[in-house]
Amino acid sequence: MRTLSIFEPGRLVMEDLPRPVLTPGNAIVKMEMCGICGSDVTAYSGKNPTMRYPVHGLGHEGVGVIAEIGENDRGLKVGDRVALEPYVPDFTCHMCRVGRFNNCADIHVCGVHKDGMMTEYFSHPVRLCYKLPDELDFLRAALTEPLTIGLHGASRARVTAGDQVVIFGAGTIGLMAAFACLSLNAEPIIIDVVQERLDFARDALGMPRVFNSAKGDVKEYLSEATGGAMCQAMIDCTGAAPVLANMHDYVWHGGRIALVGWPHGPVNVNQTRLMQKEIDVCPSRNSCGQFPTAIRLLNEDRLPIKKLITKTIRLEETEATIRDMMEHPGNYLKVVIQI
Ligand SMILES: [Zn+2]
Repeated sequence: MRTLSIFEPGRLVMEDLPRPVLTPGNAIVKMEMCGICGSDVTAYSGKNPTMRYPVHGLGHEGVGVIAEIGENDRGLKVGDRVALEPYVPDFTCHMCRVGRFNNCADIHVCGVHKDGMMTEYFSHPVRLCYKLPDELDFLRAALTEPLTIGLHGASRARVTAGDQVVIFGAGTIGLMAAFACLSLNAEPIIIDVVQERLDFARDALGMPRVFNSAKGDVKEYLSEATGGAMCQAMIDCTGAAPVLANMHDYVWHGGRIALVGWPHGPVNVNQTRLMQKEIDVCPSRNSCGQFPTAIRLLNEDRLPIKKLITKTIRLEETEATIRDMMEHPGNYLKVVIQI
């Protein structure tokens, strides 16, 4: 079977590997589609600090059809269409015991710490397979995993109805966080420096408020947008040092901040102001328990989430596409590989 493996930065290889053998607790899934994540691009460019090379099969945003499965307590059977939760925990550590599987002390994320989903057949724990509704096509379903990242960020920032939530970053994950806020009847306020992305968010997606932080003062804009109160919550999807250094200014006293974007290194934050305002700063890693919600939202199709799909490609076109994504990041949101 064809598998798109990565051996080191800049070295993606189409391998011909034997089909995996069914093992207890796992299913063999015939992969249909797999999204390309920003972290796949940085795995290729060598800028992904969590990447462990080599992995046989890049990718963690996969959906497919169960080809082989044993007896299981989830009611799954051969032929079922599924989305795959890609964070494989040990199911035994102190985090797993309290249900925080995303934060397992020995987590293995597909395509990052272990073999991933850009392959024809994939062996995956049955516990991490989620059945798709018949009406939900694979293309929309391929957005499940990135949507869960936005939902988890909103969960970490304890977003509730009526909140105004400032979101930094209008890339795929920032927009997913904005959709998560809308699904909770909160108002997202999207900040970026790339005007085209903001225009897309406002004009194509109908996002209520966008602001270009290269063209004005974010704190002033937020003050105006919130009637002087500032936001109840913030979700950072950039990891950018200047955003984190000033985050205390963007939420009100007692505000909640979720950190979703990976920083490029240690950053300075204003601990004095964070303490004076008793702001909750909550790093947000992967997602936890959000697959059913994401699948429901995609299936309802009330929010224009599928507009994030820039294009679909064949598995053979992946390397050229990733190279183009590196050169022209502004041209892309989500690319989905048809396997
Ligand atoms: Zn664990």
